[in-house]
Amino acid sequence: MENKNLNSNNKPNNKVNMPKFNLNWMYLIITLMLIALWWGGDSKSGTSKSVSYSEFQEYVRKGYVQKVLGYEDKTVEAYIKPESVSSVFGKDSVRVGKSAFVTCNSPSNDSLNSFLEEEKGKGNAVSYDYPQSSNIFSIILLNSLPLIIIVALWIFFMRRMSGGAGAGGGGVFNVGKSRAQLFEKGGAIKVTFKDVAGLAEAKQEVEEIVEFLKEPQKYTDLGGKIPKGALLVGPPGTGKTLLAKAVAGEANVPFFSLAGSDFVEMFVGVGASRVRDLFKQAKEKAPCIVFIDEIDAVGRARGKNPAMGGNDERENTLNQLLTEMDGFGSNSGVIILAATNRVDVLDKALLRAGRFDRQIHVDLPDLNERKEVFGVHLRPIKIDSSVDVDLLARQTPGFSGADIANVCNEAALIAARHGKKFVSKQDFLDAVDRIIGGLEKKTKITTEAERRSIALHEAGHATISWLLEYANPLIKVTIVPRGRALGAAWYLPEERQITTKEQMLDEMCATLGGRAAEDLFLGHISTGAMNDLEKVTKQAYGMIAYLGMSEKLPNLCYYNNDEYSFNKPYSEKTAELIDEEAKQIINEQYERAKQILSEHKEGHKELTQLLIDKEVIFAEDVERIFGKRPWASRSEEIMAIKENKAAENAKEANEEKKEDDNESKIQDESKKENQNEVDN
Ligand code: ADP
Ligand code: ZN
Repeated sequence: MENKNLNSNNKPNNKVNMPKFNLNWMYLIITLMLIALWWGGDSKSGTSKSVSYSEFQEYVRKGYVQKVLGYEDKTVEAYIKPESVSSVFGKDSVRVGKSAFVTCNSPSNDSLNSFLEEEKGKGNAVSYDYPQSSNIFSIILLNSLPLIIIVALWIFFMRRMSGGAGAGGGGVFNVGKSRAQLFEKGGAIKVTFKDVAGLAEAKQEVEEIVEFLKEPQKYTDLGGKIPKGALLVGPPGTGKTLLAKAVAGEANVPFFSLAGSDFVEMFVGVGASRVRDLFKQAKEKAPCIVFIDEIDAVGRARGKNPAMGGNDERENTLNQLLTEMDGFGSNSGVIILAATNRVDVLDKALLRAGRFDRQIHVDLPDLNERKEVFGVHLRPIKIDSSVDVDLLARQTPGFSGADIANVCNEAALIAARHGKKFVSKQDFLDAVDRIIGGLEKKTKITTEAERRSIALHEAGHATISWLLEYANPLIKVTIVPRGRALGAAWYLPEERQITTKEQMLDEMCATLGGRAAEDLFLGHISTGAMNDLEKVTKQAYGMIAYLGMSEKLPNLCYYNNDEYSFNKPYSEKTAELIDEEAKQIINEQYERAKQILSEHKEGHKELTQLLIDKEVIFAEDVERIFGKRPWASRSEEIMAIKENKAAENAKEANEEKKEDDNESKIQDESKKENQNEVDN
């Protein structure tokens, strides 16, 4: 990777935190207005009105009434005939519905009965009934149903907006509260440094934090200041959260855990208020640890997005965070740990001394660390004697701690699926393959011609990567479709901190080998190479625009970490030149790939046939065809030196394991990242 010097000139623009009109109030006002309208309208007259008993008798005599209900509590409901509504309700008649009725109190149901019988005799027939109880309640309920629905909807939406029902104290009036999860000391967190495998340097750094939390005087007596915060930097799944939890567990202090995105809300001002609340809570619990995962969600550099302008809220949140971190003394006992895998996008103000002044790098585990991680995660799993931790560690270059945890779990699931009592070596290897390449899809239908084309393509990669000095040696190639890929090749890239131009070009050549083989031996090219082409194109542009590796634009780096910038930092002319150079580099390597393939036509053909027959081939098969890689000895040498060192460091004279290494199918254990190539 290139060394980026990230001295961008973003000035912290400390905006005043203006009180903003809160959308909450808007909703409240609208609802209140609705309520007022509803009850206001209803109070004058609904579908009913109450009258005296004599008025009621009057209506019956005049023949306005079609039906009477007499209740036990002596209330009477008289339903008015539609044509008589206007006579009864007067000017209010427009507001009453079809079932308009009047209510009154009768002296008793008996007298009501005799009155109605009497009227019946006079020809004013009215149907009547004596129901068990008044349905007044159901009417009230019906009347207020819309209101209830509105209120319910309102509450529902408020809850949704504040992040889901009940989540971390959500709810209507808790939007501004911090959503941090609190683990009390001696409580749920039982993680200690023993559970964190590898990461020796990182552990050492955080141990000091544990010391401070345990014995603050030791440091403050000497006048020293303890860092307020430390930033754990590293790719996902490498154990950053685990490490932070272990710190809390070891120091036996409360632990607040939350993600950067928990601050972010659609309401203006909420983020800042949550930050305030978080720090208030933390101070009450001091000494304690606050862990903010993925801090880049709030900590991105401010004022870099002039075109969109919608980031005020996030900036306010960040400003509040900066203020709070300044606001407490270094001996207040609150230590903030944050995790990110993108330090380069963080605001510089966040990284300056007094805030996150320490950066602890948490990298992907190397071979020995992977062994340790396996050690931790194999503890709860019932394994049989075939499982070899060394082999597993070698088979999983580039895996993070989380990936390894996943492998162990997946292996147990696979073993369970086969009804086994113990998990065996093969289950682990299957789990590794599955995690790298996705599920094998043996049933995916490929025609004979397709299989041949895929085999040709993969054999092209394999041949070239075997024959070029700097290309990554291959571990295994398959033409069994996995996940969305139709074929895949596993490589072991060399562990290195810097990459030379020759190495990059060789890798490009090998990546283009698939397409070149199709072109050369099949006569037509296919869609199978899209991933390869994408990779090569990106690499070519990177070499030219960022690494200054092209002939026409040497020593120029146009790297710009401002992700919102729409202006290219070079002229149109340069842009054209970059395009041209990229095309040229790729063409050169493509021709080179074709050249190599036609020189080794026979070997490639043999390899293709082997792939078609066996579906999976390993490095040894390739070696049988093309012979040993002449430069392999060099990397083996390096490996041997490293092995010795590691052995010395670990002070484990483990002779047996060394013997195993010799028969290893993988060429180079010292190589770190597993790079996989898939072809769609
Ligand atoms: P991050 O926060 O870096 O994304 P986590 O700390 O959440 O990663 O790790 C996820 C899981 O991976 C952990 O719960 C643990 O099971 C496993 N893991 C990661 N790194 C290690 C490690 N160094 N030792 C043991 N387990 C690990
Ligand atoms: Zn390919």
